[in-house]
Amino acid sequence: MTSGRAAATTFGAVALAASVALVPTAAVAATPADVAQNGGAARSIDDSTQAILDSVQGGPAKNVILLIGDGMGDSEITSARNYEYGAGGVLPGIDALPLTGQYTTYSLTRDGKADYVPDSAATGSAWATGTKTYDNAVSVDIAGTPQDTLLEIAKANGLKTGNVTTSEVQDATPAVQAAHVAARSCYGPDSVTQCGADALDQGGRGSISEQIIGTRADLTLGGGSASFRQAARAGQYQGDTLFDQAGDRGYQVIGDAAGLSGLAAADQTAPVLGTFTDGNFPTRFAPSTATVGGGDLAPQRCTPNPARLSTDLSLQAMTEKSIDLLDNEDGFFLQVEGASIDKRDHSADACGQIGEVLDLDEAVQAALDFAKADGNTMVIVTADHAHTSQIVDGTPPTSLSTSLLTNEGSTMKIAYGTAAAGGSQQHTGSQLRVAGYGPGAANVVGLIDQTDNFFTIVNALELDRNLDGLSNDATISAPAEVAPGTDFTVTASGIEGDRQVSGVFTPATGDPVDLGYVDVIDGIATFTVTAPTALGAGTVTLTGVQSGVELTAAVNVIAGAVTPAPSATPTPGAVPADGGNTAGGVGTAGSGNGPLAFTGSEVLPALLLALMLTGAGAVLVVRRRRRAGMIDHSGVQM
Ligand SMILES: [Zn+2]
Repeated sequence: MTSGRAAATTFGAVALAASVALVPTAAVAATPADVAQNGGAARSIDDSTQAILDSVQGGPAKNVILLIGDGMGDSEITSARNYEYGAGGVLPGIDALPLTGQYTTYSLTRDGKADYVPDSAATGSAWATGTKTYDNAVSVDIAGTPQDTLLEIAKANGLKTGNVTTSEVQDATPAVQAAHVAARSCYGPDSVTQCGADALDQGGRGSISEQIIGTRADLTLGGGSASFRQAARAGQYQGDTLFDQAGDRGYQVIGDAAGLSGLAAADQTAPVLGTFTDGNFPTRFAPSTATVGGGDLAPQRCTPNPARLSTDLSLQAMTEKSIDLLDNEDGFFLQVEGASIDKRDHSADACGQIGEVLDLDEAVQAALDFAKADGNTMVIVTADHAHTSQIVDGTPPTSLSTSLLTNEGSTMKIAYGTAAAGGSQQHTGSQLRVAGYGPGAANVVGLIDQTDNFFTIVNALELDRNLDGLSNDATISAPAEVAPGTDFTVTASGIEGDRQVSGVFTPATGDPVDLGYVDVIDGIATFTVTAPTALGAGTVTLTGVQSGVELTAAVNVIAGAVTPAPSATPTPGAVPADGGNTAGGVGTAGSGNGPLAFTGSEVLPALLLALMLTGAGAVLVVRRRRRAGMIDHSGVQM
């Protein structure tokens, strides 16, 4: 608990009665006749004290679902409610959360001064890491130092994790949970200029797409296929497309509704990378056009967008499927974003942004349905920054506006006054609504800051933020003796604080051999190595890429030694029948003399071009990757 959190909680208790909404009983729009009656428009006419008290539950929570409407300020919520359900109506998801507060969203300049109008990168980084930063930054602080994210921390603590959006998965809001780059436009290996020093071939952590693969959430869904078709420019997957790389690292790569519905599992052995469009998802409604004077034109109805994806790929459908796949006894953290409220607001497209709010609202309903049934899930619904659209009375004389005919038959004028026609409308700097349900959700009440969301979630899930510490008790398992030229397995166990482990084998004679890196799967990293032909005592050193924890084991190459044989080589990119994770086989036994199994999802088969390193008579075959000769440790993805 920080002092800031304690202060917010105290203030929250005072502010509770004023800022808590009742859970609506039905999502039925009030009719004009109703709201004209005394009390007819009231939303909380009865004493709500008991309902509020009942909605306040202490933590911990087992699961957290964080739903973000990008650019969803109060104007965007209100215009969507007006259009679809009427002014006196209720958004059945967003309006149903019982505890509400407001949060500040300002970002920082690179020298630490307040920047009153933030972007999605700085704001997402704020709730993902608890650290305020500059616009454009993805989970690095103003000095450029990476900050651990909720998704990374939850994963290291043994929770399942998911990241779902209607934008490209490389877009700022999903990216802040899975990547650390100085510039949000560092999408893929081809974003050479944008990535700069973050690029793999410049010694960086790689593009956002490459880091998404390395972060290895159990499930990532959205758009953004285009960047995954690019090929890595450095590292042990150099030359391979990122889709191929993901497959080689054990991912289930899907690209359509059938792929999504066919998923039976999403876990560390076979995480899911689902990208359903090259770019962002098309919105529910076709775009409306705002013009100077447009508010005085005949009011328009929003029409269905023929390009909209199948409802099997709606945000609600993706959220429901994600919850199904992530729900497990150890809990989960899931972020869900409705991305194009912001994007359509930038384009002065009222119908586009309204449809995206309605899509998000359906996803919120799915989250709340699960949370209510589960009883141990916190749901938070909020936004990243306010945006330009305003519901206006008179048509503004010089700025863009649109007139819409709402479902209840009234005219709603929406104006966009932060850019000229054809320009991109701008974000705005007002505080935002933050709403919560479930254990720990009372921490959203009152005036908080966006960074408080990080602490609210960390505290509710009781996460250990010391990721290096989570790898401190790691152990290494390797056979003490191996026969020359035979395969043996080296395993790091209990290394939960890391996402990758790198390895080096130092033979008795000759140069050390770089074993590259493997992904940590449920706290275990397995390397399969072929012993040199030269006899003598060697050493294997495994290092947690994120923690720096170093583990060493002596491996003596002795003629006649009985080396535990690896199991059969799996098909490249396929998930072995055993699920690919033979954790039970490798175990944590220190001797390493048991049947050490071949961990297919981390270990690439020899047929993919095993490297023969010849030096001083020693031959060592690194089997788990295709181009060991191009290993560049600066290219390890974190
Ligand atoms: Zn924006």
